[in-house]
Amino acid sequence: MKSDSRGMLSGAQEASIPGGRVAKTRQSLISSSMVGSTNRGRVLQSLFDFGPTSRAELARLAGVNRATISGIVQPMIDDALLVEIDAIPANSGGGKPAKPLWFSPEAKPICGVLLMPNAVHSCLVSLEGIILAEDRMVLPSGAGPVDKIVDVIIECVTRTLAKAERPPLGIGVAVGGMVDTDRGSIVAVNLAPALDGYPLAEKLRQHFTMHALLDHHPRALLVGDRWFGKGRGVRQFAVVYTGEVLGGAFYFDGHLYRGAAGAGGELGHTFVQLDGEVCLCGRRGCWDTIATLGWLRRQASKIGLPDAAMLDSAKLVDLAARDVDGAERLLDLYARNVAVGIANLQQTVAPNLFVLHGDVVRGGDRLIEAIGDHVRRMVPSRPGGEIELIAGDSGDQAALLGAAGLVLSDLLQFAV
Ligand SMILES: [Zn+2]
Repeated sequence: MKSDSRGMLSGAQEASIPGGRVAKTRQSLISSSMVGSTNRGRVLQSLFDFGPTSRAELARLAGVNRATISGIVQPMIDDALLVEIDAIPANSGGGKPAKPLWFSPEAKPICGVLLMPNAVHSCLVSLEGIILAEDRMVLPSGAGPVDKIVDVIIECVTRTLAKAERPPLGIGVAVGGMVDTDRGSIVAVNLAPALDGYPLAEKLRQHFTMHALLDHHPRALLVGDRWFGKGRGVRQFAVVYTGEVLGGAFYFDGHLYRGAAGAGGELGHTFVQLDGEVCLCGRRGCWDTIATLGWLRRQASKIGLPDAAMLDSAKLVDLAARDVDGAERLLDLYARNVAVGIANLQQTVAPNLFVLHGDVVRGGDRLIEAIGDHVRRMVPSRPGGEIELIAGDSGDQAALLGAAGLVLSDLLQFAV
């Protein structure tokens, strides 16, 4: 038995299976010293899921008595993590009004970082999901040397941390590239090959002597939605990010699904057209080749739409609304091409709820509804299979909140 980084007692067992592979099964027990923090985490999760909640309601949700809840929340009030906020009248018959608990403005913030091939964006996030301070810096050439790139990342984070009134709980990084979540390292970032294989989480941990971890950008979006956005209190949903690339993430039965070493979610390279166009990854027919901005701009150029090289969903919807020749048809094709990947996901794992982030959000209801209509035509209808697509964020905010949410998930000891 050994104690892992979260203090959980664990027994890891390895067994040989045919083919020389090793299957690892793991049963974790909660040590008596950890029961308190686990209960604390569950109470905090209820607050994230349901918003400001009274002790009585928390007790009802947890199936315990009020005294037990009071014993859990009082130390968090004493530590300035939670506060009682304005009372809600109990009911029309009078009685003592309930005082809901919510996150204190005095609570420690979290540092969230979004790392893209050419820029780094860092921020402080309150436990209520409010961005308190932000910094953004342009990165030097992705060709390297890597130390110059890392120096800028550290400078950006340093500037942000300097604005914190209390020491942050940790640093979470959303990476616009492939990551190895087991090692906390970057596997590959397109356009920034110098970062390939770089153990960024360890570097940040050592430099700032603070908890630090990283994850794939679309998964950070999902974590942000789960803690602070449209995934609050939802048992299953998927995130799909569109733009220069495509990516996604899944939340199943209350847990984020990462796949082995965080390799899941590379939706842009799932196949939608056998023998289709060659993708940046070198294979043919990836979803990336028909549903990214690159595809949209190439098609716009072919049919002579104005300013095709800078086209995005907002501009395309505007062109269609003005009856510019070919725009309506291209908008429908784009919606269909985005829909085909979503329909495949629905058929495979049936999340039913999809939160869309990135470029398609700029297309507003017109585009989201068009994508949804195509998805519903592609997926056979069935009881309990109502599919809902909702708009997330087209900017950096959701990813920054999600990067901070990675730390929250880890500290609260949830497998998300
Ligand atoms: Zn590909």
